[in-house]
Amino acid sequence: MASESRLPDVELTMQLHIPTLFVVIITTSAILALSLGAIIRRDDQDGLLPLISALGLVVLAFLLFPLRGLIPDLLSLWLAYVAVSGAFALMLRAVAAFQQRRLPAWMKFGPTLVLATVLGIAFKWLSVSLFGRIVLSNFVFLFQATLLLRILIQGTRKTIGRGQYLVIAGVLLNVVAIVARGIILYTTEMQSVINVTDPGVSQSIIFLSSFAHLILVTIGFVLMVKERADDKNRRLAVTDSLTGSWNRIRIGEYAQLEMQRRKRYDIPASILMMDLDFFKAVNDRHGHAVGDQLLREFSLMVRGCLREGDHLGRWGGEEFIVLLSCSNAATAAAIGERIRKTVATTTFADNLHITISLGYAEYRSEETLEQWVERADTALYQAKNAGRNRVEPHRDLNSPAAERASLDLIRLIWKPEYETGYARIDEQHKEFFRQGNGLLDAILRQDSPERLRRRIEAFLTVVEVHFRAEEDWLIEQNWPDSAEHAAHHKELSERAAELLAKHDQNPLDADDFLHFFINELILQHLLIDDRKFAHDLNLRAEPSSYAPNF
Ligand code: GH3
Ligand code: MG
Ligand code: MG
Repeated sequence: MASESRLPDVELTMQLHIPTLFVVIITTSAILALSLGAIIRRDDQDGLLPLISALGLVVLAFLLFPLRGLIPDLLSLWLAYVAVSGAFALMLRAVAAFQQRRLPAWMKFGPTLVLATVLGIAFKWLSVSLFGRIVLSNFVFLFQATLLLRILIQGTRKTIGRGQYLVIAGVLLNVVAIVARGIILYTTEMQSVINVTDPGVSQSIIFLSSFAHLILVTIGFVLMVKERADDKNRRLAVTDSLTGSWNRIRIGEYAQLEMQRRKRYDIPASILMMDLDFFKAVNDRHGHAVGDQLLREFSLMVRGCLREGDHLGRWGGEEFIVLLSCSNAATAAAIGERIRKTVATTTFADNLHITISLGYAEYRSEETLEQWVERADTALYQAKNAGRNRVEPHRDLNSPAAERASLDLIRLIWKPEYETGYARIDEQHKEFFRQGNGLLDAILRQDSPERLRRRIEAFLTVVEVHFRAEEDWLIEQNWPDSAEHAAHHKELSERAAELLAKHDQNPLDADDFLHFFINELILQHLLIDDRKFAHDLNLRAEPSSYAPNF
Protein backbone atom coordinates (compact mmCIF):
# COMPACT_ATOMS: atom_id res chain seq x y z
CA MET A 1 0.00 0.00 0.00
CA ALA A 2 2.76 2.30 -1.01
CA SER A 3 0.46 4.89 -2.52
CA GLU A 4 -1.55 5.26 0.71
CA SER A 5 1.53 5.72 2.82
CA ARG A 6 2.78 8.53 0.56
CA LEU A 7 -0.43 10.58 0.74
CA PRO A 8 0.26 12.26 4.11
CA ASP A 9 3.68 13.33 2.75
CA VAL A 10 2.08 15.08 -0.20
CA GLU A 11 -0.32 16.86 2.12
CA LEU A 12 2.53 17.84 4.33
CA THR A 13 4.54 19.40 1.53
CA MET A 14 1.57 21.20 0.00
CA GLN A 15 0.34 22.60 3.29
CA LEU A 16 2.87 25.32 3.68
CA HIS A 17 2.82 27.69 6.56
CA ILE A 18 0.43 30.33 5.27
CA PRO A 19 1.38 33.21 7.63
CA THR A 20 5.04 32.77 6.58
CA LEU A 21 4.01 32.94 2.90
CA PHE A 22 2.14 36.16 3.65
CA VAL A 23 5.19 37.69 5.25
CA VAL A 24 7.37 36.55 2.33
CA ILE A 25 4.98 38.00 -0.26
CA ILE A 26 4.67 41.30 1.59
CA THR A 27 8.41 41.73 2.04
CA THR A 28 9.24 40.63 -1.51
CA SER A 29 6.70 43.02 -3.04
CA ALA A 30 7.88 45.88 -0.85
CA ILE A 31 11.55 45.24 -1.68
CA LEU A 32 10.79 44.98 -5.41
CA ALA A 33 8.74 48.20 -5.31
CA LEU A 34 11.43 50.06 -3.39
CA SER A 35 14.20 48.79 -5.70
CA LEU A 36 12.29 49.87 -8.80
CA GLY A 37 11.52 53.19 -7.11
CA ALA A 38 15.23 53.73 -6.59
CA ILE A 39 16.11 53.20 -10.26
CA ILE A 40 13.12 54.80 -11.99
CA ARG A 41 13.84 57.89 -14.06
CA ARG A 42 11.84 61.05 -13.62
CA ASP A 43 10.62 60.93 -17.19
CA ASP A 44 9.53 57.31 -16.92
CA GLN A 45 8.64 56.20 -20.45
CA ASP A 46 8.68 52.50 -19.75
CA GLY A 47 5.72 51.92 -17.46
CA LEU A 48 7.81 51.31 -14.34
CA LEU A 49 5.68 53.70 -12.28
CA PRO A 50 2.41 51.75 -12.73
CA LEU A 51 4.36 48.55 -12.01
CA ILE A 52 5.66 50.00 -8.71
CA SER A 53 2.11 51.08 -7.83
CA ALA A 54 0.86 47.57 -8.60
CA LEU A 55 3.45 46.11 -6.21
CA GLY A 56 2.35 48.65 -3.59
CA LEU A 57 -1.25 47.46 -3.93
CA VAL A 58 -0.10 43.84 -3.52
CA VAL A 59 1.58 44.82 -0.23
CA LEU A 60 -1.62 46.54 0.88
CA ALA A 61 -3.81 43.54 -0.03
CA PHE A 62 -1.62 41.02 1.79
CA LEU A 63 -1.47 43.26 4.86
CA LEU A 64 -5.28 43.51 4.91
CA PHE A 65 -6.21 39.79 4.54
CA PRO A 66 -4.81 38.72 7.94
CA LEU A 67 -6.47 41.68 9.64
CA ARG A 68 -9.84 40.05 9.14
CA GLY A 69 -11.65 39.94 12.41
CA LEU A 70 -9.62 42.77 13.85
CA ILE A 71 -11.15 45.39 11.58
CA PRO A 72 -14.56 45.41 9.81
CA ASP A 73 -14.86 43.00 6.85
CA LEU A 74 -15.58 45.87 4.52
CA LEU A 75 -12.20 47.35 5.32
CA SER A 76 -10.18 44.15 5.39
CA LEU A 77 -11.68 41.78 2.81
CA TRP A 78 -13.39 44.17 0.44
CA LEU A 79 -10.43 46.54 0.26
CA ALA A 80 -7.98 43.64 -0.11
CA TYR A 81 -9.84 42.16 -3.10
CA VAL A 82 -10.20 45.58 -4.70
CA ALA A 83 -6.46 46.18 -4.17
CA VAL A 84 -5.58 42.88 -5.93
CA SER A 85 -7.83 43.83 -8.84
CA GLY A 86 -6.24 47.31 -8.85
CA ALA A 87 -2.80 45.67 -9.02
CA PHE A 88 -3.89 43.72 -12.13
CA ALA A 89 -5.24 46.94 -13.68
CA LEU A 90 -1.95 48.73 -12.97
CA MET A 91 0.07 45.91 -14.51
CA LEU A 92 -2.06 46.25 -17.62
CA ARG A 93 -1.28 49.97 -17.63
CA ALA A 94 2.42 49.28 -17.15
CA VAL A 95 2.51 47.00 -20.20
CA ALA A 96 0.45 49.48 -22.24
CA ALA A 97 2.77 52.32 -21.23
CA PHE A 98 5.76 50.21 -22.22
CA GLN A 99 4.19 49.48 -25.59
CA GLN A 100 3.20 53.14 -25.92
CA ARG A 101 -0.41 52.32 -26.55
CA ARG A 102 -3.51 53.94 -25.12
CA LEU A 103 -5.99 51.82 -23.25
CA PRO A 104 -9.73 52.46 -23.40
CA ALA A 105 -11.15 53.69 -20.06
CA TRP A 106 -13.21 50.51 -19.51
CA MET A 107 -10.05 48.42 -19.63
CA LYS A 108 -8.31 50.65 -17.13
CA PHE A 109 -11.09 50.93 -14.56
CA GLY A 110 -13.99 48.64 -15.61
CA PRO A 111 -13.09 45.30 -13.97
CA THR A 112 -12.01 46.86 -10.65
CA LEU A 113 -15.15 49.02 -10.47
CA VAL A 114 -17.39 46.01 -11.16
CA LEU A 115 -15.60 43.95 -8.49
CA ALA A 116 -15.75 46.79 -5.95
CA THR A 117 -19.46 47.33 -6.53
CA VAL A 118 -20.57 43.71 -6.56
CA LEU A 119 -18.41 42.73 -3.56
CA GLY A 120 -19.51 45.87 -1.71
CA ILE A 121 -23.17 44.97 -2.19
CA ALA A 122 -22.47 41.36 -1.18
CA PHE A 123 -20.66 42.32 2.02
CA LYS A 124 -23.19 44.94 3.04
CA TRP A 125 -26.41 43.12 2.39
CA LEU A 126 -25.73 39.46 1.79
CA SER A 127 -23.68 37.00 3.69
CA VAL A 128 -20.97 35.59 1.38
CA SER A 129 -18.97 32.47 1.96
CA LEU A 130 -15.26 32.32 1.21
CA PHE A 131 -16.14 30.25 -1.85
CA GLY A 132 -18.61 32.88 -3.06
CA ARG A 133 -16.06 35.62 -2.63
CA ILE A 134 -13.41 33.59 -4.38
CA VAL A 135 -15.65 32.72 -7.33
CA LEU A 136 -16.66 36.33 -7.78
CA SER A 137 -13.20 37.87 -7.38
CA ASN A 138 -11.42 35.18 -9.34
CA PHE A 139 -13.82 35.62 -12.20
CA VAL A 140 -12.75 39.28 -12.38
CA PHE A 141 -9.03 38.44 -11.87
CA LEU A 142 -9.14 35.88 -14.68
CA PHE A 143 -10.72 38.42 -16.98
CA GLN A 144 -8.01 40.96 -16.10
CA ALA A 145 -5.25 38.37 -16.58
CA THR A 146 -6.70 37.58 -20.03
CA LEU A 147 -6.59 41.26 -20.99
CA LEU A 148 -3.00 41.42 -19.79
CA LEU A 149 -2.01 38.30 -21.73
CA ARG A 150 -3.70 39.64 -24.82
CA ILE A 151 -1.75 42.88 -24.99
CA LEU A 152 1.47 41.11 -24.00
CA ILE A 153 1.10 38.57 -26.81
CA GLN A 154 0.12 41.27 -29.30
CA GLY A 155 3.27 43.15 -28.31
CA THR A 156 5.62 40.19 -28.84
CA ARG A 157 5.89 41.05 -32.52
CA LYS A 158 7.21 44.52 -31.76
CA THR A 159 9.06 43.90 -28.50
CA ILE A 160 12.72 43.03 -28.61
CA GLY A 161 14.23 40.31 -26.43
CA ARG A 162 12.75 37.66 -24.16
CA GLY A 163 11.82 39.53 -20.98
CA GLN A 164 8.21 39.62 -22.13
CA TYR A 165 8.07 35.81 -22.10
CA LEU A 166 8.87 35.83 -18.38
CA VAL A 167 6.00 38.24 -17.82
CA ILE A 168 3.69 36.05 -19.92
CA ALA A 169 4.84 32.98 -17.98
CA GLY A 170 4.13 34.77 -14.68
CA VAL A 171 0.61 35.74 -15.71
CA LEU A 172 -0.12 32.28 -17.14
CA LEU A 173 1.04 30.69 -13.88
CA ASN A 174 -1.38 32.89 -12.02
CA VAL A 175 -4.23 31.93 -14.33
CA VAL A 176 -3.52 28.22 -13.84
CA ALA A 177 -3.26 28.69 -10.06
CA ILE A 178 -6.57 30.57 -9.88
CA VAL A 179 -8.37 27.81 -11.81
CA ALA A 180 -6.67 25.02 -9.83
CA ARG A 181 -7.47 26.67 -6.54
CA GLY A 182 -11.14 27.01 -7.52
CA ILE A 183 -11.32 23.31 -8.41
CA ILE A 184 -9.54 22.07 -5.27
CA LEU A 185 -11.52 24.35 -3.02
CA TYR A 186 -14.77 23.23 -4.59
CA THR A 187 -14.05 19.52 -4.59
CA THR A 188 -12.14 18.90 -1.36
CA GLU A 189 -11.69 21.84 0.93
CA MET A 190 -15.03 23.61 1.02
CA GLN A 191 -15.54 22.76 4.68
CA SER A 192 -12.06 23.13 6.05
CA VAL A 193 -11.13 26.50 4.56
CA ILE A 194 -13.22 29.38 5.77
CA ASN A 195 -10.71 32.16 5.83
CA VAL A 196 -8.17 33.33 3.26
CA THR A 197 -5.46 32.75 5.84
CA ASP A 198 -6.55 29.20 6.71
CA PRO A 199 -4.17 26.37 5.75
CA GLY A 200 -5.03 24.10 2.84
CA VAL A 201 -3.67 22.84 -0.48
CA SER A 202 -5.65 25.42 -2.44
CA GLN A 203 -4.31 28.19 -0.23
CA SER A 204 -0.73 26.99 -0.62
CA ILE A 205 -1.12 26.88 -4.38
CA ILE A 206 -2.49 30.37 -4.67
CA PHE A 207 0.05 32.05 -2.39
CA LEU A 208 3.03 30.19 -3.77
CA SER A 209 1.99 31.02 -7.34
CA SER A 210 1.37 34.65 -6.36
CA PHE A 211 4.91 34.79 -5.07
CA ALA A 212 6.34 33.27 -8.27
CA HIS A 213 4.10 35.53 -10.35
CA LEU A 214 5.42 38.67 -8.62
CA ILE A 215 9.02 37.71 -9.23
CA LEU A 216 8.51 36.61 -12.85
CA VAL A 217 6.49 39.70 -13.78
CA THR A 218 8.89 42.15 -12.15
CA ILE A 219 12.09 40.57 -13.44
CA GLY A 220 10.52 40.05 -16.87
CA PHE A 221 9.38 43.64 -17.02
CA VAL A 222 12.74 45.06 -15.95
CA LEU A 223 14.37 42.86 -18.61
CA MET A 224 11.95 44.19 -21.23
CA VAL A 225 12.98 47.74 -20.32
CA LYS A 226 16.66 46.84 -20.35
CA GLU A 227 16.49 44.95 -23.64
CA ARG A 228 14.72 47.84 -25.29
CA ALA A 229 17.24 50.35 -23.97
CA ASP A 230 20.10 48.12 -25.14
CA ASP A 231 18.55 47.86 -28.57
CA LYS A 232 18.04 51.62 -28.74
CA ASN A 233 21.67 52.21 -27.82
CA ARG A 234 22.83 49.65 -30.33
CA ARG A 235 20.79 51.34 -33.01
CA LEU A 236 21.99 54.80 -31.98
CA ALA A 237 25.56 53.64 -32.20
CA VAL A 238 25.11 52.59 -35.83
CA THR A 239 22.53 55.08 -37.06
CA ASP A 240 22.83 58.64 -38.18
CA SER A 241 20.66 60.66 -35.81
CA LEU A 242 19.50 63.23 -38.37
CA THR A 243 18.41 60.98 -41.22
CA GLY A 244 17.96 57.58 -39.56
CA SER A 245 20.16 55.98 -42.20
CA TRP A 246 23.15 53.89 -41.17
CA ASN A 247 26.33 55.64 -40.15
CA ARG A 248 29.86 55.00 -41.39
CA ILE A 249 30.55 52.36 -38.74
CA ARG A 250 27.59 50.18 -39.68
CA ILE A 251 28.14 50.59 -43.42
CA GLY A 252 31.79 49.70 -42.88
CA GLU A 253 30.87 46.52 -40.97
CA TYR A 254 28.37 45.50 -43.58
CA ALA A 255 30.75 46.29 -46.43
CA GLN A 256 33.29 43.90 -44.86
CA LEU A 257 30.69 41.13 -45.07
CA GLU A 258 30.05 41.91 -48.73
CA MET A 259 33.79 41.86 -49.39
CA GLN A 260 34.06 38.43 -47.77
CA ARG A 261 31.19 37.14 -49.90
CA ARG A 262 32.90 38.39 -53.01
CA LYS A 263 36.14 36.69 -52.09
CA ARG A 264 34.58 33.39 -51.03
CA TYR A 265 31.65 32.93 -53.37
CA ASP A 266 32.42 35.42 -56.14
CA ILE A 267 29.21 37.32 -55.46
CA PRO A 268 29.62 40.89 -56.72
CA ALA A 269 28.96 43.96 -54.60
CA SER A 270 28.97 47.63 -55.51
CA ILE A 271 28.80 50.95 -53.79
CA LEU A 272 27.21 54.16 -54.90
CA MET A 273 28.54 57.44 -53.53
CA MET A 274 26.26 60.42 -53.84
CA ASP A 275 26.49 64.05 -52.99
CA LEU A 276 23.81 66.72 -53.17
CA ASP A 277 24.57 69.35 -55.79
CA PHE A 278 25.05 72.92 -54.57
CA PHE A 279 23.72 72.07 -51.16
CA LYS A 280 25.52 74.96 -49.54
CA ALA A 281 23.30 77.30 -51.55
CA VAL A 282 20.19 75.55 -50.14
CA ASN A 283 21.42 76.25 -46.60
CA ASP A 284 22.35 79.80 -47.46
CA ARG A 285 19.03 80.62 -49.07
CA HIS A 286 16.56 78.60 -47.00
CA GLY A 287 18.33 78.14 -43.67
CA HIS A 288 19.95 75.20 -41.94
CA ALA A 289 16.64 73.82 -40.61
CA VAL A 290 15.25 73.44 -44.14
CA GLY A 291 18.60 71.91 -45.15
CA ASP A 292 18.24 69.35 -42.36
CA GLN A 293 14.66 68.58 -43.33
CA LEU A 294 15.74 68.14 -46.93
CA LEU A 295 18.44 65.67 -45.86
CA ARG A 296 15.82 63.69 -43.92
CA GLU A 297 13.39 63.63 -46.84
CA PHE A 298 16.17 62.78 -49.24
CA SER A 299 17.30 59.87 -47.11
CA LEU A 300 13.75 58.52 -46.82
CA MET A 301 13.27 58.85 -50.55
CA VAL A 302 16.48 57.02 -51.41
CA ARG A 303 15.57 54.19 -49.07
CA GLY A 304 12.32 53.93 -51.02
CA CYS A 305 14.34 53.40 -54.23
CA LEU A 306 16.40 50.54 -52.80
CA ARG A 307 15.82 46.81 -52.85
CA GLU A 308 15.67 44.72 -49.71
CA GLY A 309 19.24 43.99 -48.67
CA ASP A 310 20.65 47.27 -50.00
CA HIS A 311 21.64 49.84 -47.41
CA LEU A 312 21.85 53.59 -47.27
CA GLY A 313 24.43 55.26 -45.06
CA ARG A 314 25.37 58.85 -44.38
CA TRP A 315 29.03 59.17 -45.17
CA GLY A 316 29.28 62.70 -43.81
CA GLY A 317 27.61 66.09 -44.36
CA GLU A 318 25.53 65.83 -47.50
CA GLU A 319 27.38 62.85 -48.89
CA PHE A 320 25.68 59.46 -48.77
CA ILE A 321 26.71 55.93 -49.61
CA VAL A 322 24.61 53.00 -50.80
CA LEU A 323 25.87 49.49 -50.33
CA LEU A 324 24.43 47.31 -53.08
CA SER A 325 24.39 43.65 -52.21
CA CYS A 326 24.83 41.08 -55.03
CA SER A 327 25.23 43.90 -57.58
CA ASN A 328 27.70 44.33 -60.37
CA ALA A 329 28.54 47.67 -61.95
CA ALA A 330 25.64 47.45 -64.40
CA THR A 331 23.11 47.03 -61.59
CA ALA A 332 24.76 49.87 -59.67
CA ALA A 333 24.42 52.08 -62.75
CA ALA A 334 20.73 51.24 -63.09
CA ILE A 335 19.96 51.84 -59.41
CA GLY A 336 22.04 55.02 -59.42
CA GLU A 337 20.12 56.31 -62.39
CA ARG A 338 16.82 55.45 -60.73
CA ILE A 339 17.82 57.41 -57.63
CA ARG A 340 19.12 60.34 -59.68
CA LYS A 341 15.90 60.56 -61.68
CA THR A 342 13.65 60.27 -58.63
CA VAL A 343 15.54 63.02 -56.80
CA ALA A 344 15.52 65.30 -59.84
CA THR A 345 11.75 64.97 -60.23
CA THR A 346 10.80 65.29 -56.54
CA THR A 347 9.58 68.44 -54.85
CA PHE A 348 11.09 68.58 -51.37
CA ALA A 349 10.16 70.69 -48.32
CA ASP A 350 9.87 74.42 -48.97
CA ASN A 351 9.08 73.65 -52.61
CA LEU A 352 12.72 72.81 -53.24
CA HIS A 353 14.11 70.97 -56.23
CA ILE A 354 17.55 69.50 -56.05
CA THR A 355 19.85 67.25 -58.03
CA ILE A 356 22.52 64.83 -56.95
CA SER A 357 25.71 63.51 -58.49
CA LEU A 358 26.60 59.85 -58.15
CA GLY A 359 29.63 57.67 -58.68
CA TYR A 360 29.77 53.89 -58.38
CA ALA A 361 32.39 51.19 -58.15
CA GLU A 362 32.12 47.43 -58.13
CA TYR A 363 34.27 45.69 -55.53
CA ARG A 364 37.54 44.13 -56.71
CA SER A 365 38.60 41.21 -54.55
CA GLU A 366 42.12 42.42 -53.96
CA GLU A 367 41.30 45.88 -52.62
CA THR A 368 40.60 47.24 -49.13
CA LEU A 369 37.41 48.98 -48.11
CA GLU A 370 39.22 52.33 -48.20
CA GLN A 371 40.35 51.72 -51.78
CA TRP A 372 36.88 50.65 -52.82
CA VAL A 373 35.27 53.76 -51.32
CA GLU A 374 38.02 55.91 -52.78
CA ARG A 375 37.23 54.61 -56.28
CA ALA A 376 33.52 55.38 -55.88
CA ASP A 377 34.48 58.82 -54.57
CA THR A 378 36.64 59.47 -57.61
CA ALA A 379 33.70 58.48 -59.81
CA LEU A 380 31.51 60.91 -57.86
CA TYR A 381 33.94 63.72 -58.53
CA GLN A 382 33.99 62.77 -62.18
CA ALA A 383 30.21 63.22 -62.12
CA LYS A 384 30.64 66.63 -60.47
CA ASN A 385 33.25 67.69 -63.01
CA ALA A 386 31.18 66.51 -65.91
CA GLY A 387 28.43 68.94 -64.93
CA ARG A 388 26.58 67.30 -61.95
CA ASN A 389 23.15 65.60 -61.92
CA ARG A 390 24.64 62.45 -63.41
CA VAL A 391 25.83 58.95 -62.58
CA GLU A 392 29.41 58.02 -63.39
CA PRO A 393 31.23 54.69 -63.15
CA HIS A 394 34.69 54.47 -61.71
CA ARG A 395 37.14 54.40 -64.59
CA ASP A 396 40.62 53.17 -64.32
CA LEU A 397 42.91 55.74 -65.91
CA ASN A 398 45.71 53.23 -66.36
CA SER A 399 43.59 50.53 -67.89
CA PRO A 400 44.00 50.34 -71.68
CA ALA A 401 40.44 49.05 -71.92
CA ALA A 402 39.09 52.29 -70.58
CA GLU A 403 38.37 54.05 -73.85
CA ARG A 404 37.80 57.76 -73.48
CA ALA A 405 38.29 57.03 -69.84
CA SER A 406 39.64 60.26 -68.51
CA LEU A 407 37.75 62.55 -70.79
CA ASP A 408 35.28 63.37 -68.07
CA LEU A 409 37.87 63.99 -65.39
CA ILE A 410 39.07 67.21 -66.97
CA ARG A 411 37.00 68.45 -69.82
CA LEU A 412 37.42 71.66 -71.74
CA ILE A 413 33.99 73.16 -72.02
CA TRP A 414 33.04 75.71 -74.64
CA LYS A 415 31.17 78.66 -73.19
CA PRO A 416 29.00 81.26 -74.96
CA GLU A 417 31.20 84.06 -73.64
CA TYR A 418 34.06 82.80 -75.84
CA GLU A 419 32.10 83.70 -78.98
CA THR A 420 33.35 86.53 -81.16
CA GLY A 421 30.09 86.89 -83.08
CA TYR A 422 31.68 85.59 -86.30
CA ALA A 423 30.24 82.18 -86.93
CA ARG A 424 33.16 80.71 -88.89
CA ILE A 425 35.77 81.89 -86.39
CA ASP A 426 33.69 80.52 -83.55
CA GLU A 427 33.36 77.21 -85.39
CA GLN A 428 37.14 76.98 -85.65
CA HIS A 429 37.56 77.93 -82.02
CA LYS A 430 35.13 75.16 -81.06
CA GLU A 431 37.23 72.78 -83.10
CA PHE A 432 40.19 73.78 -80.85
CA PHE A 433 38.18 72.53 -77.93
CA ARG A 434 37.24 69.25 -79.59
CA GLN A 435 40.82 68.54 -80.61
CA GLY A 436 42.07 69.77 -77.25
CA ASN A 437 39.78 67.35 -75.40
CA GLY A 438 40.97 64.49 -77.61
CA LEU A 439 44.57 65.38 -76.84
CA LEU A 440 43.95 65.73 -73.13
CA ASP A 441 42.24 62.36 -73.15
CA ALA A 442 45.26 60.80 -74.86
CA ILE A 443 47.63 62.39 -72.32
CA LEU A 444 45.62 61.20 -69.31
CA ARG A 445 45.19 57.77 -70.82
CA GLN A 446 48.95 57.67 -71.20
CA ASP A 447 48.92 56.82 -74.88
CA SER A 448 52.26 55.89 -76.43
CA PRO A 449 54.57 58.89 -77.23
CA GLU A 450 54.14 58.32 -80.98
CA ARG A 451 50.35 58.34 -80.82
CA LEU A 452 50.50 61.37 -78.58
CA ARG A 453 52.78 63.14 -81.04
CA ARG A 454 50.32 62.55 -83.88
CA ARG A 455 47.58 63.99 -81.68
CA ILE A 456 49.61 67.07 -80.85
CA GLU A 457 50.44 67.59 -84.51
CA ALA A 458 46.80 67.25 -85.52
CA PHE A 459 45.85 69.74 -82.87
CA LEU A 460 48.53 72.22 -83.92
CA THR A 461 47.48 71.89 -87.56
CA VAL A 462 43.97 72.94 -86.63
CA VAL A 463 45.44 75.91 -84.75
CA GLU A 464 47.72 76.90 -87.67
CA VAL A 465 44.97 76.58 -90.30
CA HIS A 466 42.80 78.79 -88.17
CA PHE A 467 45.54 81.41 -87.64
CA ARG A 468 46.21 81.68 -91.40
CA ALA A 469 42.52 81.97 -92.26
CA GLU A 470 41.94 84.58 -89.58
CA GLU A 471 44.96 86.67 -90.62
CA ASP A 472 43.87 86.66 -94.29
CA TRP A 473 40.42 87.72 -93.37
CA LEU A 474 41.58 90.54 -91.09
CA ILE A 475 43.77 91.96 -93.91
CA GLU A 476 40.78 91.72 -96.21
CA GLN A 477 38.74 93.69 -93.70
CA ASN A 478 41.46 96.36 -93.56
CA TRP A 479 41.70 96.02 -89.83
CA PRO A 480 44.55 98.33 -88.77
CA ASP A 481 45.93 95.94 -86.13
CA SER A 482 46.14 92.88 -88.39
CA ALA A 483 49.94 92.86 -88.38
CA GLU A 484 50.10 92.97 -84.58
CA HIS A 485 47.50 90.17 -84.40
CA ALA A 486 49.54 88.05 -86.79
CA ALA A 487 52.55 88.63 -84.53
CA HIS A 488 50.58 87.23 -81.59
CA HIS A 489 49.70 84.22 -83.71
CA LYS A 490 53.37 83.76 -84.45
CA GLU A 491 54.26 83.79 -80.74
CA LEU A 492 51.61 81.20 -80.08
CA SER A 493 52.86 79.02 -82.94
CA GLU A 494 56.34 79.21 -81.47
CA ARG A 495 55.06 78.16 -78.05
CA ALA A 496 53.23 75.29 -79.74
CA ALA A 497 56.43 74.22 -81.48
CA GLU A 498 58.20 74.34 -78.09
CA LEU A 499 55.51 72.10 -76.66
CA LEU A 500 56.07 69.57 -79.42
CA ALA A 501 59.86 69.70 -78.93
CA LYS A 502 59.40 69.23 -75.21
CA HIS A 503 57.24 66.22 -75.88
CA ASP A 504 59.94 64.65 -78.02
CA GLN A 505 62.24 64.68 -74.98
CA ASN A 506 59.69 63.84 -72.31
CA PRO A 507 56.14 62.75 -73.02
CA LEU A 508 53.83 65.72 -72.66
CA ASP A 509 51.93 65.84 -69.40
CA ALA A 510 48.47 67.21 -68.72
CA ASP A 511 49.79 70.20 -66.74
CA ASP A 512 51.94 71.49 -69.63
CA PHE A 513 49.18 71.05 -72.12
CA LEU A 514 46.52 72.68 -69.92
CA HIS A 515 48.84 75.60 -69.28
CA PHE A 516 49.27 76.15 -73.00
CA PHE A 517 45.62 75.65 -73.78
CA ILE A 518 44.10 77.70 -71.00
CA ASN A 519 46.62 80.47 -70.38
CA GLU A 520 47.86 81.05 -73.86
CA LEU A 521 45.27 79.88 -76.33
CA ILE A 522 42.09 80.71 -74.45
CA LEU A 523 43.00 83.60 -72.21
CA GLN A 524 45.45 85.36 -74.53
CA HIS A 525 44.06 84.49 -77.91
CA LEU A 526 40.34 83.87 -77.58
CA LEU A 527 39.50 86.23 -74.77
CA ILE A 528 41.90 89.12 -75.37
CA ASP A 529 43.27 89.26 -78.94
CA ASP A 530 40.21 88.06 -80.83
CA ARG A 531 37.92 90.21 -78.72
CA LYS A 532 39.73 93.29 -80.05
CA PHE A 533 38.97 92.73 -83.69
CA ALA A 534 35.49 91.42 -82.88
CA HIS A 535 34.83 94.68 -81.09
CA ASP A 536 36.36 96.97 -83.77
CA LEU A 537 34.82 95.22 -86.75
CA ASN A 538 31.45 94.94 -85.08
CA LEU A 539 31.46 98.71 -84.70
CA ARG A 540 32.35 99.30 -88.37
CA ALA A 541 30.67 96.60 -90.28
CA GLU A 542 27.10 96.11 -91.36
CA PRO A 543 25.49 93.24 -89.57
CA SER A 544 25.29 91.29 -92.86
CA SER A 545 29.08 91.15 -93.14
CA TYR A 546 29.55 89.77 -89.63
CA ALA A 547 30.19 86.29 -90.87
CA PRO A 548 33.50 86.18 -92.72
CA ASN A 549 33.70 83.53 -95.35
CA PHE A 550 36.93 81.61 -95.06
P1 GH3 B 1 28.71 70.51 -54.78
O1 GH3 B 1 27.69 70.43 -55.85
O2 GH3 B 1 30.07 70.74 -55.31
O3 GH3 B 1 28.65 69.34 -53.88
O4 GH3 B 1 28.33 71.81 -53.94
P2 GH3 B 1 27.92 71.88 -52.41
O5 GH3 B 1 27.50 73.27 -52.10
O6 GH3 B 1 26.91 70.84 -52.12
O7 GH3 B 1 29.26 71.45 -51.70
P3 GH3 B 1 30.02 71.93 -50.44
O8 GH3 B 1 30.82 70.74 -50.00
O9 GH3 B 1 30.73 73.20 -50.69
O10 GH3 B 1 28.93 72.24 -49.35
C1 GH3 B 1 28.35 71.24 -48.60
C2 GH3 B 1 27.39 71.92 -47.68
O11 GH3 B 1 26.58 70.98 -47.01
C3 GH3 B 1 28.08 72.70 -46.63
C4 GH3 B 1 27.30 72.46 -45.39
O12 GH3 B 1 26.74 73.65 -44.91
C5 GH3 B 1 26.17 71.56 -45.81
N1 GH3 B 1 25.90 70.55 -44.82
C6 GH3 B 1 26.69 69.52 -44.46
N2 GH3 B 1 26.10 68.80 -43.47
C7 GH3 B 1 24.90 69.38 -43.22
C8 GH3 B 1 23.83 69.10 -42.30
O13 GH3 B 1 23.85 68.15 -41.53
N3 GH3 B 1 22.76 69.92 -42.32
C9 GH3 B 1 22.69 70.97 -43.18
N4 GH3 B 1 21.59 71.72 -43.16
N5 GH3 B 1 23.68 71.26 -44.04
C10 GH3 B 1 24.78 70.48 -44.06
MG1 MG C 1 27.42 68.85 -52.41
MG1 MG D 1 29.95 67.42 -50.22
